[in-house]
Amino acid sequence: MGTALRALVQAVLLLVPITADAVDDPQTGVTALVNATVIDGTGNTPRGEAVVLVSGERIRAVGPRGEVVIPEGARVVDMSGKWIIPGLVDAHIHLFQSGGLYTRPDIIDLRSIRPYAAEVDWVKARLPMTLARYLASGVTAVLDVGGPFWTFEARERSKTMPHAPQLAVTGPLLSSSMPSELRVADPPILEVNAPAEARAAVRRVLAERPDLIKLWWIPEASRPLGEQSRWVRAAIEESHRPGVRVAVHATQLEVARAAARAGADVLVHSVEDRRVDDGFVRLLKERDVVYVTTLGVNQGYREVFEQRFKPTDLERRLGDAEVLATLDDLADLSLWKGAFWRRWSLRWPDPRIASWNLRRLHEAGITIAAGSDAGNIGTLHGPALHRELKRMAEAGLAPLAILEAASQGGARAMGRGSDLGTLEPGKRADLLVLDADPQSDIRHARHIYRGSGRRDPEP
Ligand SMILES: [Zn+2]
Repeated sequence: MGTALRALVQAVLLLVPITADAVDDPQTGVTALVNATVIDGTGNTPRGEAVVLVSGERIRAVGPRGEVVIPEGARVVDMSGKWIIPGLVDAHIHLFQSGGLYTRPDIIDLRSIRPYAAEVDWVKARLPMTLARYLASGVTAVLDVGGPFWTFEARERSKTMPHAPQLAVTGPLLSSSMPSELRVADPPILEVNAPAEARAAVRRVLAERPDLIKLWWIPEASRPLGEQSRWVRAAIEESHRPGVRVAVHATQLEVARAAARAGADVLVHSVEDRRVDDGFVRLLKERDVVYVTTLGVNQGYREVFEQRFKPTDLERRLGDAEVLATLDDLADLSLWKGAFWRRWSLRWPDPRIASWNLRRLHEAGITIAAGSDAGNIGTLHGPALHRELKRMAEAGLAPLAILEAASQGGARAMGRGSDLGTLEPGKRADLLVLDADPQSDIRHARHIYRGSGRRDPEP
């Protein structure tokens, strides 16, 4: 299979009925998807009876049937009664975590049952399958915002895999908080406390050509925020020097504000502790900061820990069955209960605050990116993004705004806004054909057309 064909097959998710001869046709190599309603991901009004012209791995044209010239010899595929949207982007995942019960010993320590090294080896071995789950779920690009140095190798390997999304990675998180359970060879976190350490750590990561640098800012009660922000500011300066953008984990309003003031380009996670104020909104707007949602990840933990996690149909079909099976293991484990759960539930933020903040920031015109935080316990690689989209709808965002966040917004978070995320000429032909209208219900984005005679189940 030629590179162009492989890219196209990936682009349309295996399954729009396109044959090797049609695409590899040396005469044109062009495919025209005609008569669908096209939602281009820019927030523009959807266009009915449109044509999407794909050449190799790129979009050549998008427009009304009468305006787009279909070259002679092009393969024409009738998509009447269907919708075409950009491939989805999950702007917050962690490939070093499985999504299963044993993947966060710093949160629930079950290393006596499964050693952490065994968990990580298992995760690495499953990487090609894990990445394929994203494509099968309609997610054609992902941003890994924190993991060991081996995630850089994963990025290189993914380029040779037949079914992998576009993958951007940050490498290790920089943080002043280093859980002892994660002190392993090639840890996911590099500990930094002072500006000089932060600069040295950034330089170490920069050597691997990260797509972004990631800071995990967990505020310390013992030091004033202003003092802590010194290492954050130093890390951001050092990253910006060669032009590498910085994403900061900041879930409290004052930490998020300090991060934005220090120059953060992307705020990872919602602000969960308080409603955002006008000054914060202005700050994000002035600095053009991208805000990544992750509304669902806490709920995943909670449902697993309370032993009431129920996978959606999509998760049952496309999620990793072995990972899902671990989520039931707590039923047999008595050791974690009691003190552990009391400690955990005390920190539980009210999810309505994050939803309110998302709506406020969206209405103010801040760039929103959809992120699932997949890899965390109860948040499954691949299908989890669809859960997140549903939560965004529950928070009050309209389907088109959600799709924009899950395509153009995600591409901007990755720093790939000019290359992917919208259906425009010159961009990657990463697109999905849907059997149902996502404008009436965002859950219809799960109804991916995979070729004639196959339909996805109702949500
Ligand atoms: Zn995360």
